[in-house]
Amino acid sequence: MAVKQISLGKCDKLAKSPRPSAFELAPIHSQRASSTLSSRIVASVREGLFDGTLTPGNMLGTEGQLSGQFGVSRVAARDALKRLEAMGVVEIRAGAGGGARIAYGNAQLFADALAIQLRLTNVTTREIMDSQRAIEMMTAELAAEYATAEDLQSIDNLLAEADACIQDSDAFTRSSFAFHLAVADAAHNDVLKMQLMAMHFIAWPTHNPTLTVDVAEHIQKIHKELFILLQARDGEAACALMSRHMKQIRARRVAESTEQPFSNNCC
Ligand SMILES: [Zn+2]
Repeated sequence: MAVKQISLGKCDKLAKSPRPSAFELAPIHSQRASSTLSSRIVASVREGLFDGTLTPGNMLGTEGQLSGQFGVSRVAARDALKRLEAMGVVEIRAGAGGGARIAYGNAQLFADALAIQLRLTNVTTREIMDSQRAIEMMTAELAAEYATAEDLQSIDNLLAEADACIQDSDAFTRSSFAFHLAVADAAHNDVLKMQLMAMHFIAWPTHNPTLTVDVAEHIQKIHKELFILLQARDGEAACALMSRHMKQIRARRVAESTEQPFSNNCC
């Protein structure tokens, strides 16, 4: 990830007329290596996020301001800002009015990071599919409660799209993916949706050579039944149907994977 540098000139200028910071972090009085000092800045910011001192949009300061506030070198402050930016915690802007601000949440970044870590930990197909079933049961139940007219229309549109491409394995696979995400959208719960996106990043095949038209028609039948339950606001039945649906998918994928670390075998 490219890291924007904060110019020394801007830092010096701002240091003379410091803008009010949204919070105060404890200075670090230590002769440890700059990496350790930067780690402590990162830890302080992290702590500020979780105790509510820091919220998205808050100005963290410039490299020069952080250096002065923590009593560390510019190298340590720069390293901390680079790490915070790479973590998606801060956004750094150069120029007048620039500096580091606490970033706003990024669902895509979260899902990507979670998917990568799941992949790196060699989780099995069974673990992924069991987690996905748990999440999707809840999204189905919540969608029945919270889906708006626009949400239901989007799901209905996707069902029509899937009908039109049921003979095309790849297109149907993409459309089914969109259907499941649309149900998650309708649940209006970003925590569940972000986790589901991560599951889908590693579990949803982009190419599905064994998806026959018979299987596609069966999936489409279940999706349509689910849509009717969402319209009827029957969360319990929607949850139960999604559970059965995910169990069927799980059984096939686990059988194909033979419990090896997850691979993108078809569903
Ligand atoms: Zn499905």
